[in-house]
Amino acid sequence: MSHFVIIGAGECGARAAFALREKGFKGKVTLVGAEPFAPYERPPLSKSSLSELLEPKFVAAKEKYEQSGIDLLTGMDAVAIDLERKSVSLSRGQEIAYDKLLIATGASARRLPGMPVQSRHIMSLRTHHDALAIRRYLEPGKHVLIIGGGFIGLEVAATARSLGAQATLIEGLERVLKRGVPHEIAEVISARHALEGVDLRCGVAIARVEESDTGVTVELATGEILDADLVLVGIGASPNTDLAERSGLAIENGIAVDQFLQTSAVDVYAAGDCCSFPLALYDGRRIRLESWRNAQEQGTLAAANMMGIGEPISSVPWFWSDQYDLTLQIAGLAEGAVTHLRREIGEGSFMVFHLDADGRLLAASGVGPGNSVARDIRLAEMLIAARACPDPAALVAPDVKLKSLLAA
Ligand SMILES: Cc1cc2nc3c(=O)[nH]c(=O)nc-3n(C[C@H](O)[C@H](O)[C@H](O)COP(=O)(O)OP(=O)(O)OC[C@H]3O[C@@H](n4cnc5c(N)ncnc54)[C@H](O)[C@@H]3O)c2cc1C
Repeated sequence: MSHFVIIGAGECGARAAFALREKGFKGKVTLVGAEPFAPYERPPLSKSSLSELLEPKFVAAKEKYEQSGIDLLTGMDAVAIDLERKSVSLSRGQEIAYDKLLIATGASARRLPGMPVQSRHIMSLRTHHDALAIRRYLEPGKHVLIIGGGFIGLEVAATARSLGAQATLIEGLERVLKRGVPHEIAEVISARHALEGVDLRCGVAIARVEESDTGVTVELATGEILDADLVLVGIGASPNTDLAERSGLAIENGIAVDQFLQTSAVDVYAAGDCCSFPLALYDGRRIRLESWRNAQEQGTLAAANMMGIGEPISSVPWFWSDQYDLTLQIAGLAEGAVTHLRREIGEGSFMVFHLDADGRLLAASGVGPGNSVARDIRLAEMLIAARACPDPAALVAPDVKLKSLLAA
């Protein structure tokens, strides 16, 4: 019987395991995960639902793995891959042979230089355990200082304020979300944080971070000293490539895969946050995404390709973030855009479109309360996928439905 092994029991690994069954794979499926839990969702870890989070929000009930014939091994690290013998060594000394292997090891939060792996008052956020530890500081009377104005830092700042903690956010660049969204959207986000009482400082470098028994002292490059109960480091994530690298697989800002998610080794695939892949829609540009939907889609695609279906990556990158009652969504990749146009949606919601020199729509981002931008972002995604060059005047005209541009 054929044996497909998946290393990494996160969003992507779990989706791949179930997709193998949904697509009719009859062989053995083993899913190996380092964390002590069945696969769970990470997005709730930084959002307002963090306040109610006692146990992880599982991708599927534990029984579902058994019912689907998926052998789920939790609390176990894959420590080596022997590409010649086609086997994986596990941390408890077990060795398992594979016919096809998927690496879905995700990413790890970046740490400050010299930052200890475990510290009482300086933390990063990637796992359920991290979220529980951080949660203890999100209450009135506590001061949380966040380093990094990216999505996770901003979401934690919003959650901290909604739970009554004092929040300061330090961003080294001149504005928040510099790499993620256009300035119009960043301005809305910053203004909302300021309104909610977050002390937001941009363009400020950190000179020193010093932990004591009771908290942390942060010295800014300006000489200002800030004392906090918790420092949350939200400076991005790095792909977990060590295992793949030690096994001799090609690495290029992540485990390098081709358009079928195949690595440089035969019968070995990689997917989700840990891999970089070429995107035909953007002239084969190699990218790596840290996004929930990408992890799901690539898990499903990896399963198809492990079964020999031969389906290339074709989806449009998509990401969302929730802060207070605002939702922000981004579709596509804005790099290379020369024009950027704003479309009002109403009730405080708007979108920004990014077009290249030929007028092709490369990306769209939007912000507004609740789901207000979801439908238009979905339509923009379809235009991006179709490589459309929509009429700029129509894009910004609120009375022209984006749907009508799809047919043009
Ligand atoms: C706090 C937070 C909030 C987020 N919010 C959003 C959001 O709002 N919107 C959005 O689109 N995305 C969001 N994301 C990103 C999204 O959660 C990730 O893109 C997604 O979880 C990636 O899934 P993955 O399976 O590739 O990796 P992961 O979820 O990282 O799973 C990989 C798993 O592999 C395990 N592993 C690693 N090495 C080994 C090994 N050698 N052996 C065994 N197991 C191993 C890891 O322990 C981990 O459990 C958020 C992420 C975080 C951390």
